[in-house]
Amino acid sequence: MGNKSETLFDDAKTVIPGGVNSPVRAFRAVDRNPLFINHAKGSHIFDEDGGEYIDYVCSWGPMILGHAYQPVIDAVKAACENGLSYGAPTEKETVLAKLILEAVPFMDKVRLVNSGTEAVMSAIRVARGYTKRDKIIKFRGNYHGHSDGLLVTAGSGLLTESNPDSAGVPKGYTATTLLADYNDKASVEALFEANKGQIAAVIVEPVSANMGVVPPNEGFLEFLRQITKDNGSLLIFDEVITGFRLAYGGASEYYGIQPDMITFGKIVGGGMPLAAYVATSEIMDVVAPVGSVYQAGTLSGNPIAVTAGIEQLKALKNDKDIYIRIDEFASKLEAAYRELGVTVNRVGSLLSPFFTDGEVTSYSDVLKCDTKKFAAYFRKMLDNGVYVAPSQFEAMFVSDAHSQDDLDKTIKAIKNSI
Ligand code: PMP
Repeated sequence: MGNKSETLFDDAKTVIPGGVNSPVRAFRAVDRNPLFINHAKGSHIFDEDGGEYIDYVCSWGPMILGHAYQPVIDAVKAACENGLSYGAPTEKETVLAKLILEAVPFMDKVRLVNSGTEAVMSAIRVARGYTKRDKIIKFRGNYHGHSDGLLVTAGSGLLTESNPDSAGVPKGYTATTLLADYNDKASVEALFEANKGQIAAVIVEPVSANMGVVPPNEGFLEFLRQITKDNGSLLIFDEVITGFRLAYGGASEYYGIQPDMITFGKIVGGGMPLAAYVATSEIMDVVAPVGSVYQAGTLSGNPIAVTAGIEQLKALKNDKDIYIRIDEFASKLEAAYRELGVTVNRVGSLLSPFFTDGEVTSYSDVLKCDTKKFAAYFRKMLDNGVYVAPSQFEAMFVSDAHSQDDLDKTIKAIKNSI
């Protein structure tokens, strides 16, 4: 941590809570001050003190093609010349909607929004409006953004701060959020049994990636598909992380399961503030102005964000070998951790080393991790020029820009740090 980052952080703290605009960025869990970033290119990120790091945060997922990917940058620059926002429809929104639907051919319609939080919040409103039921089931340790009703035993920054709920959320707002345990069928069955005919939807991260990466047990997603169907409830896959990452078609393609609704974020916007929710026409036609579920946005479908999304999705669609490359890269990182006796979970290009003994298949396994050991490992990785997420409870993201040289250096850093 150099002097300039230090000074900028001190200054930021005088005008921004904790000096950051999203909590995990403050590095509190790893007992170090954050790097202030100057720029990024490909797989590398550069701080204000001239430090260069191999980046496995990748803006928490969006930069699957690497930073400042030229076709996206060029298209965005050109689009800016035409104005930044109109608050009126453009042809490009339909182009992006069609690119998204190609990923999930069993869906019919897309609504574009500005963040993953908004996508999930809106999808749940739609599910409630469509089913005319109020209750939803979410899983402990899954994170679905910071809307009131979902800040209940949530993962990501809440887990990092050891405060799984948020102050400022009235009890009434979360009274209809029922909690189950990921990979635990009985916990879901019990909630359906106790709330017959009242569950609008089950929302799940098909691969949990906000408590570290925890894959679904064999049959778990199939079970969720069946129990929701049997009870007239909707199954919502929150694919804000997995969408366009595990495959072009995300987790629904990867696992061959068709949920009723899907939320996308991160990759879909190419690094710009853009997210989406999709479903069949029957469900989506409850959304205003066609139907009675209201959802809107001044900047929704913003032309610059849409342009970035189109270029990134086109690149992914036209070179599906990207997924083979990033998965293989991640598998080599997995092997490096494993060789050192570290527990590691990986699905595709998402992975997490866990500082614990034995397997990690549940939220309760995650809670047993030694966060002090993680913090020490994180600091050493940084000293060795590798930037990983500053929390035990986040994923490592691999991009197509990561090179053989990056891999060799990262493996060396892992060996030095564990
Ligand atoms: N859902 C999931 C699965 C996420 O990982 C996140 C953010 N990491 C969100 C929703 C919220 O997205 P955003 O931060 O864009 O609001």
